[in-house]
Amino acid sequence: MGELKTEPMLGAYMAESDHDIALQDTDRIHGRSALVKNVEAASSLAGAICSTLGPKGLDKMLVESDGTATVTNDGVTVLETAQVEHPTARLLIDASSSQDRAARDGTTTTVILVAEFLQNALELVRMGVHPSIIVNGYSMALEESLAEIERVAEEADDSMKSQVVSTSLQGKSDRALCKLLAGLAITAADLLADEEGGDDIERLRVKRLQVKQGSVLETSLVNGLMLLKSRVDKATSDKSEGGLVAIIDGGLESKKLEINASIEVDSPGILQGFHDRKIEYVNKRVENLKSLGVELLIVRDGISDEAVSLLTKAGITAYRRFERKDMELLSNITGAKLVRDPLYVSADDIGSYSRRFEENIADVRHTLIEGSDGGGMTLVVRGSSPAVREEAVRVFDDAIGVAHRMNLRPGVLPGGGAIQSHLARHLRAHSLNQTGREQLAIDAYASALESIPRILAENSGRDPVDVILALSAEQQELGPWIGLDLGHGKNQDMKEAGILDPLFVVRHALSGSTEAAISVLRIDDVLWAKTDPSTPDWKDDEESED
Ligand code: ADP
Ligand code: MG
Repeated sequence: MGELKTEPMLGAYMAESDHDIALQDTDRIHGRSALVKNVEAASSLAGAICSTLGPKGLDKMLVESDGTATVTNDGVTVLETAQVEHPTARLLIDASSSQDRAARDGTTTTVILVAEFLQNALELVRMGVHPSIIVNGYSMALEESLAEIERVAEEADDSMKSQVVSTSLQGKSDRALCKLLAGLAITAADLLADEEGGDDIERLRVKRLQVKQGSVLETSLVNGLMLLKSRVDKATSDKSEGGLVAIIDGGLESKKLEINASIEVDSPGILQGFHDRKIEYVNKRVENLKSLGVELLIVRDGISDEAVSLLTKAGITAYRRFERKDMELLSNITGAKLVRDPLYVSADDIGSYSRRFEENIADVRHTLIEGSDGGGMTLVVRGSSPAVREEAVRVFDDAIGVAHRMNLRPGVLPGGGAIQSHLARHLRAHSLNQTGREQLAIDAYASALESIPRILAENSGRDPVDVILALSAEQQELGPWIGLDLGHGKNQDMKEAGILDPLFVVRHALSGSTEAAISVLRIDDVLWAKTDPSTPDWKDDEESED
């Protein structure tokens, strides 16, 4: 009986809606419950990092599967390390990574805002407002916020620039280290200020070199490319006042004939012939470099023994086993182009450098090469433990990222939750001009922005509701530059307190978080592949071993 019933029903179902067959292997969540699930995922992710926001934020300890631990206060580091699979949560992490790439700061803020935008949107959906209305309202609120921050922003002078960098490092690491690294980052950024290449040159032109010896507080910045390397032939000079340089993206070795072939040697002339040809192969390449006036040769791979002596005879100092990043930095600062085979190097590919020397620092051989084609630097990060050095590199990355971008786009805004509190008030006033339901969405957007001063207050142990109300009231009287000074536990002018956020960070955080929230609101159907994650991949292997 049961069988008879099932068959035709299944047949009818399949004929009726063909496209659902394609969904047989998926779980399907539709409409509002999709939104509820997505908001839950966003909130739990934001919940995991909101305690790191601001100077009083707590640290997180990240433990990798191999047991190594990192302690950090940096939202994006926490998120990128976490193994998150939920697609909405991934979307938030992507928004935060994109914020990190584009602005180098404001990553925690971005995630918190996406989650708050979504939570408030869900409230509205429960009240019967359609997601597409919310999407419209949020877009309007973003547009108005972006216009308003331009009106509030001021152009930073040098002292404000350094306060911006310090604000962005608040709570990231030990105070003395942050101060040292902020200073080095500002110096490096200023040296790169006149160079072309946009946002990326702070990464391309400043090498981060970790050295085991010394204390992290001895970290320094040197002009030029510094390497833990020495020239291939000690007979060549360990210093030079400059000259022409070629960079080879390959090796300078004769092809190894003996690898796969066994050759019958029936007369002594054959071996000699091979040897001569090997020498000839290398010689042609060295002669080419010499004829171009090359004095310094950089090689990615190996340099054979024959080549070493021919190079020395030709008056060329050579370095081998260069990393790609170092070759690229050197190419940037000398103008030399990367060429695969030394035989095909032409006058166009040659660059020039202004100084080279080798020295022992704490018993380790270092080489320094300064380019004559543009600024390039090396941050020499000292410190005995890798964790300490890596933290210093991260802090420096953030600092130079912000310092460099500040030179390109010098607008600043009040930090300490001030700009968000001001925007919330501004949007609420603005929403009164709206007649439709979008008004509700704009108000929801405004409340979401207030999460930033609220969480900053919470993290410093103050009452969030009191703080938000008092801040907004004071701003109404004294203007948008009044914010939370958490170091002194009171509200004051953020310019006087030196708590300043870059305009580009705030702008990118607002647009990135709004776009991410909108893309979640547009989803009304979530399909999950029905793979059972509890089935281990290695199950088959184990069975076959039996
Ligand atoms: P994000 O990853 O979003 O940059 P942070 O943990 O760096 O998160 O916190 C940034 C927020 O902390 C900004 O809103 C900034 O204005 C605020 N902030 C920094 N220093 C202070 C301070 N001394 N008092 C109040 N707020 C501060
Ligand atoms: Mg920050």
